[in-house]
Amino acid sequence: MKKYLGKIPEELQGLLNKVHNIAARKNTEAYLVGGFVRDLILGVKNLDLDIVIEGDGIGLAQDFASSLGVKITVHRQFGTATVFVRPGLKVDFSSSRQEHYPSPAHLPLVKGGSLKDDLNRRDFTLNAMAISLKDGKLVDYFGGLNDLRHKVIRVLHPLSFIDDPTRIFRAIRFEQRYNFKIEPESLKLLRQAVRLKMLERIHPHRTRDDLVLILKEKNPVKEIKRIEKLAGFDFILPQLKIIPKTYALLKAIKREIGYFHKNYTGRRPLDTWVIYLMGLLESLDAKKIKNICAKFGLRKGEEKRLLSYKRSQGRFLTDLSRASIAPARIFALLEPLSYETILALRAKYNNPVFKRNITDFLDIYNGMRISVSGDDLAGLGVLPGPRYRKIFTQVLKAKLNGQVRNKEEELALIKQLLRKRS
Ligand code: ATP
Repeated sequence: MKKYLGKIPEELQGLLNKVHNIAARKNTEAYLVGGFVRDLILGVKNLDLDIVIEGDGIGLAQDFASSLGVKITVHRQFGTATVFVRPGLKVDFSSSRQEHYPSPAHLPLVKGGSLKDDLNRRDFTLNAMAISLKDGKLVDYFGGLNDLRHKVIRVLHPLSFIDDPTRIFRAIRFEQRYNFKIEPESLKLLRQAVRLKMLERIHPHRTRDDLVLILKEKNPVKEIKRIEKLAGFDFILPQLKIIPKTYALLKAIKREIGYFHKNYTGRRPLDTWVIYLMGLLESLDAKKIKNICAKFGLRKGEEKRLLSYKRSQGRFLTDLSRASIAPARIFALLEPLSYETILALRAKYNNPVFKRNITDFLDIYNGMRISVSGDDLAGLGVLPGPRYRKIFTQVLKAKLNGQVRNKEEELALIKQLLRKRS
């Protein structure tokens, strides 16, 4: 009976025992559900626990959170709550419910229901299993275990992709992530929904969320290929063309991300999905990209990075492709750009000098600071004002170009500059 629960790491077992005990005191039974159960059976690590009870899910979550003394967020309108056990480990609670889709691609109407109703509203059989915390029994009404064993993704009913077309993205995501296959009948239904242009009917913000999840998967290039084959990219923009060059760029982006992760471990984490999006939107001009950002509600910082990639050309490229370029010029060109933009450019332009200049920037110049401060300038009798900035820029430039190496030399340079001016 404890076949599955026994596979759960000890820390989580302790937490789940606690959940069970609180549920038992409330005369209800708690179940693990969804992706956690799927990954447990597959032996894949997952720290997003989903608990459903046929009763008051929020009440259970509140008692659980206060027993641990940790933070809880309650979403009363959805009847759900999230308990943040520690960074990276959270437990979602909900009351079992049933859903009804008033019209295709819209959010469902929700009302209370049994555990079976709750599992029946889910996307695929492999995500529609539960494990009782009381006795560890697997609850599998729809053949999820069998489908997991045969590595197939299967919807629970024929209208599934029409009710919620985001499941098209989810089916592709899980298929590619686990190397499964979408089962033939489900695939037929998926293609039908695509033909009916259901993807275009999803609210763009929901489309964005699913697309971001896809681009955050381990191998987004595979996922993009599969989307192109099964659905195309009209749902982003009919003019968006995916050509062999796009795939070459996406593969080069994958290599550049690997290169960055290997060589620059201490830097800020990359938004790798933004870089893949740059590659995906390669065939579009800046104006179309701007429109896409507005339609899908991308954040300002994301839009800025996408556009700066698009707009970095002409002089920028010729200068960076010169072996004789001065370090201060490399710094001036690259310092204002994000790592995401820089890596996409490095992926796109396969010119060894261009690449080396970027490597030099990342290795040496990026984040370079000078040693002198405002106090030093004041000490030399310079009155505070816009002049400070000018002097600092000149010192930094000299440092980048190797003309000054330490504070002493920086001060000497400043004195020289001041003498020239006076
Ligand atoms: P991941 O490993 O990517 O987080 P997950 O299956 O845990 O995958 P969530 O989005 O956290 O994904 O969803 C949790 C569960 O909620 C799913 O396993 C599934 O049972 C259900 N679910 C999520 N989205 C949908 C949907 N669009 N339609 C039906 N059920 C869904």
